[in-house]
Amino acid sequence: MNLPDFTDFPPLLALRKKMGATELGQFDFFDPVLHLTGEERIQLAGQGIAVGTVALRKLLDHTVAYKNARVIVWQPQCAEYHLCWCKNFPQLPDVFVGARKPAGMSVCSECLDHLQYDGHNSHRHRHQDYYAQVRKHFDVATFFQRFPHYPIGR
Ligand SMILES: [Zn+2]
Repeated sequence: MNLPDFTDFPPLLALRKKMGATELGQFDFFDPVLHLTGEERIQLAGQGIAVGTVALRKLLDHTVAYKNARVIVWQPQCAEYHLCWCKNFPQLPDVFVGARKPAGMSVCSECLDHLQYDGHNSHRHRHQDYYAQVRKHFDVATFFQRFPHYPIGR
């Protein structure tokens, strides 16, 4: 079925001109399976959300997506949270995801290695003092400035 091309439909063009709409807009249907709800966005910014790892996907840079957001991942009993699918990524079926540093946890060194975050390389013997500083000063908000949290495409 061919749909009419409304970009060339005079009554609509006149209406757009009257509204001062110079650019064509874009509209995405909201799908709660694919898109975060407002409540989920609030939870991600707060204590995080418990999800099954089957609900997560790996982005091209190996960071982790839940629906249309890049997230960090952790398990409550562990000392480290993850930025990407590193070799220490939780193997359990359920994890927590969020956009804020979980209290009392440190960033995973393997994730920093994988992303070469600020040149981080825990396997190199030289410059370990520098890498320790990278880990110590790692900030989730800065991470999400470099790797945007929301929204992300498929
Ligand atoms: Zn990791």
